[in-house]
Amino acid sequence: MKRVIYPGTFDPITNGHIDIIQRACRIFDDVTVAVAESTGKNTLFTSQERLVMVKKTLKQLHINAKATIFDGLLVDFVRKYNATVIVRGLRAVSDFEVEFQMALMNRKLDEEVETLFLMPKDTYSYLSSSIIKQIARLNGSVKAFVPKHVERELRVKYGFRK
Ligand code: ADP
Repeated sequence: MKRVIYPGTFDPITNGHIDIIQRACRIFDDVTVAVAESTGKNTLFTSQERLVMVKKTLKQLHINAKATIFDGLLVDFVRKYNATVIVRGLRAVSDFEVEFQMALMNRKLDEEVETLFLMPKDTYSYLSSSIIKQIARLNGSVKAFVPKHVERELRVKYGFRK
């Protein structure tokens, strides 16, 4: 059984992330979404909040994947978790450079860990957590891009709803 890890910030999870998780589940039996504890990014949601949103999404959509928080070096986590494959989403050429560097660096750190890139449905290729936050912060509708409960959490965070 091949265990794979889909790591990311998920601040918050979007339909683009969901598309990648579903694709990974079609290929692998054991998919774990790994929510980064500290990312070097200034996150809107805490790691716990991000994890809860991922878990709720998986449950609501009946996606057969697990979710957990991880901290420290990704390759160490992958090893400890008995996985050998890292899944990442590739949206556009703009993603390529940074993903390429990270994949090769991870390979340097651990030869046995493979990074696999999956392309989302074209309609999600312009979607990112940061653009969702920009829209939500200005009270725009993000209904088409994130699960309903995530939309609600964004409205609460930005003070448009209690
Ligand atoms: P990170 O900070 O690790 O990039 P993100 O949560 O932004 O965390 O993204 C996690 C992974 O999901 C990355 O591989 C990213 O390229 C991918 N991803 C993000 N948004 C989309 C999307 N709309 N379609 C496909 N992949 C995506």
